[in-house]
Amino acid sequence: MQRLDELITAEQLQALHRQVPALAQLRREYISLCDAHVQALMAGRDGAAEQQARDAFSAAMPEKERAILAQAGIELSSLSVYRCLLCKDSGFVVKQGRKVPCQCAEEKQKERLFRQAQALPSFAAFDKTLFEDADQLASALLLRDRLMAYCRAFGQNERPHFCLTGQTGVGKSFLLGCTVRALMEQGIRTRLLTAYEMMELFRAQHIGEGETLPALIEVPFLAIDDLGTEPMYRNITVEYLFTLIDERVRAGRPMAIATNLMSDQIRDRYGERVLSRLRDTKQFANFGMRGKDLRPSGKKQTK
Ligand SMILES: [Zn+2]
Repeated sequence: MQRLDELITAEQLQALHRQVPALAQLRREYISLCDAHVQALMAGRDGAAEQQARDAFSAAMPEKERAILAQAGIELSSLSVYRCLLCKDSGFVVKQGRKVPCQCAEEKQKERLFRQAQALPSFAAFDKTLFEDADQLASALLLRDRLMAYCRAFGQNERPHFCLTGQTGVGKSFLLGCTVRALMEQGIRTRLLTAYEMMELFRAQHIGEGETLPALIEVPFLAIDDLGTEPMYRNITVEYLFTLIDERVRAGRPMAIATNLMSDQIRDRYGERVLSRLRDTKQFANFGMRGKDLRPSGKKQTK
């Protein structure tokens, strides 16, 4: 069992002491025993007796505190008790003078990523029966293997970024989703969004409704689906897109873009600067997907 001062913040403890004087009294007794031990040491004695008295008091304190709380009609669970005593729920601990994430925060993030990942398609669920055409299946399988290799080597890929290019319905979104899921399951923080969603974030940034661009620049892996389907806002679409790509490339922070735009269409829509970034073969691997629309009705969600 832990003492209250190990379970709640100093501010909470003070408030509780004002509310329940018996607790404050108990704490004063404890402090005076701590003090006696220090005084003994400072007087040059070994302080063993004082230490023993303090430790015995401390060991009995949690039960006494709980009894006092019970008498005052306060439930321990109603006090906001820390879930993590290492960091007192701040998520950070100080190690060698540096603030680093606490293990509880890292575990929580891994769990969260894993949960989110389950909603995405997976490489393991690759459905070969969708492909009627043998060539199309072969090229999709080859691409799947390349993307799996990309995920395994994440952070060390020769070309950190990639584009998935191909007609609507050949499976780009599916493979992009699989890639994001595989990275999440490796514990890598990712962001997957459609170009439309991205543009709404850019617009929010532009009109001062949020700091959305820095988050997109800083996430360790960013995947943008369906580039080319977003609205073209003047002074926003091209400018923010270029800044995003340029900043990520310069920082060496991997990104993936799925689009059915060909090079000349990218140039027409976003200009030469965006095209030259995306076609920089030292930075971007370009995976082309050939083939027919796999969606039976033309309206199914897999693109
Ligand atoms: Zn913690």
